[in-house]
Amino acid sequence: MKSLWNDQEAAKFSGDLAQRVYSSRLLGRDPSLVLHGGGNTSVKVKEINVFGEEEEILCVKGSGWDLETIEAAGFSPCRLAHLLRLAGLPALSDLQMAKELKGCLTNPAAPMPSVEAILHATLPGKFVDHTHADALISITNTAAGRQRVNEVYGDRVVCIPYVMPGFKLARLCAELFRQHSHPGTVGLVLMNHGLFSFGDTAKIAYERMIELASMAEDYLARNNAWKLPASTLTAPTSSHRAELAAFRRELSGAMGGPAILTTHSDAAALAFAQRADVGEISQQGPATPDHVIRTKRLPLVGRDLAAYRIAYSDYFTGLAAKSGQQLTMLDAAPRVIVDRELGVLTAGRTAKEASIASDIYHHTMDIVLRATALGGWKALPAADIFDVEYWDLEQAKLRGAGRAPGFAGEIALVTGAASGIGRACVDSLLKRGAAVVGLDINPAITSLCARPDFHGITCDLTQQASLAAALEEAVRKFGGLDMLVLNAGIFPPGATIAEMSLELWRKVMNINLDANFLLMREAHPLLKLAPNGGRVVVIGSKNVPAPGPGAAAYSASKAAVNQLARVAALEWGRDRIRINSLHPNMVFDTALWTPEILASRAKHYGLSVEDYKTNNVLKTEVSSRDVAELAAEMCGPLFAKTTAAQVPVDGGNDRVI
Ligand code: ZN
Repeated sequence: MKSLWNDQEAAKFSGDLAQRVYSSRLLGRDPSLVLHGGGNTSVKVKEINVFGEEEEILCVKGSGWDLETIEAAGFSPCRLAHLLRLAGLPALSDLQMAKELKGCLTNPAAPMPSVEAILHATLPGKFVDHTHADALISITNTAAGRQRVNEVYGDRVVCIPYVMPGFKLARLCAELFRQHSHPGTVGLVLMNHGLFSFGDTAKIAYERMIELASMAEDYLARNNAWKLPASTLTAPTSSHRAELAAFRRELSGAMGGPAILTTHSDAAALAFAQRADVGEISQQGPATPDHVIRTKRLPLVGRDLAAYRIAYSDYFTGLAAKSGQQLTMLDAAPRVIVDRELGVLTAGRTAKEASIASDIYHHTMDIVLRATALGGWKALPAADIFDVEYWDLEQAKLRGAGRAPGFAGEIALVTGAASGIGRACVDSLLKRGAAVVGLDINPAITSLCARPDFHGITCDLTQQASLAAALEEAVRKFGGLDMLVLNAGIFPPGATIAEMSLELWRKVMNINLDANFLLMREAHPLLKLAPNGGRVVVIGSKNVPAPGPGAAAYSASKAAVNQLARVAALEWGRDRIRINSLHPNMVFDTALWTPEILASRAKHYGLSVEDYKTNNVLKTEVSSRDVAELAAEMCGPLFAKTTAAQVPVDGGNDRVI
């Protein structure tokens, strides 16, 4: 591991807190040190209080901040004297501690200080750094872990046996540090948890952390436990979407609402899943208590997904029994599932949660494999994990969090999503919390939005194989399908029936009608498994109720889709799938309408462009966003009791009215 410290860069951060920000970000940049909000840092500074007295303040990372992107405002200023007095108490419950931490802030608007604040206060050195370095965790999660720590560091660190994060840990660290530290002590090893380093400058504390983590890496390398065997395994090509969607439904039931389930069939995940000892090494629990906090629940392993339903309930009942505690969890579902054929599956209440679980588990696999190579992976006992998962602070956080509103945990698929109404539908659905898959023949779809809850797939909807592959990819990405927005379509240049070629007619029918039929047929088994019932929205056209001359193919294709949707409403009602259509008209902010075409059409009717755009009963302009918002609402509770409706979104059209 290399130090990322750069004197020139560092010089731009003047003052203690700014230096703290700089080196915290360096730690945050390395995912093998800290992951997703893990780890914490502090600096001790002096402030003049309102009475004109100088006071020592511990600025410690506040909750909700990530080291990689932390700002000065992310550090919570706690009165140091108060923290040190707390450290001297014989006991303090977690909830009392949380109250005291909040109470000793000099700025009540600051974020909640890290639960490790008291521990930071008791350590010497102006700057204190704390990470969950992967290499150290590999070493401490082995049978002879304690002895190995000695081999790595000698007496340069004080080694603390595993205790759950919180007041007890802070107290134990303070006591053991007092007893065992000496002038040459540079840090603390927390068994099964991580490293602390400290120093009088940000650079010293940071570089000691890098040195300590590097020593752990070197130790693994010396013992042939650093380099992991390369794997060339690739994702299975057979179809798994039906069983994945069925499993996601089970999982959603256990999680108390729709869940995102992401399949990771990368070489590392498959190699791990196919190990003969995977059942043993994956079932011992997470690598550090921090990983329990950040992902909830533990991995499960099995051969076929159907078996998990029983597996996970048994597993958690067993865990509760072992710890001798009453089972009061909010949900019993796993967040990581290991499957021999598919690799690693991660679940979350949102796509972001599932992606965090994946990052953490990919690190966990490396940690486990290195520990195994070192002589045997041995994680925390089940009771300790149970304690972390159900400790007061975590439960309070969960109770406070509740379920996200809207479409959180649900998956929507939009066709023709790269531009116009389709693109607007993507935005409206994302805004409501859904994970969205966008399909388009335009390859630009794959880079439409870079966020964990969007996935773009290039797809030719008229090709059955391309469509099936897209659905398979969508389900592997998010776990199933709850909402389908049929938007893709073409509007060919005007032609009368007398002059229309059969080729053009067939092309329009192929895209506007046949492709939608195919997609509906293929999506039906998935929509049937939607935890809250499936929803389909058809982007129809004013041409359905009021066709126009010169648009025979377009009007006929849209009318046919409309009829298809009505039949689907009749057939799919028993599967709790509702299907509604909306009929937009004169939506000009799409790729179809260039300023030139707009000007020429306006001229054709003898109107100005402005009058042409608002040429409807309400004299209002209809935008893609208006259509998209209605489409999204049709998937929501407002339309929960409605199927086969056709709603115009056209500003009022006298031919339709
Ligand atoms: Zn920690």
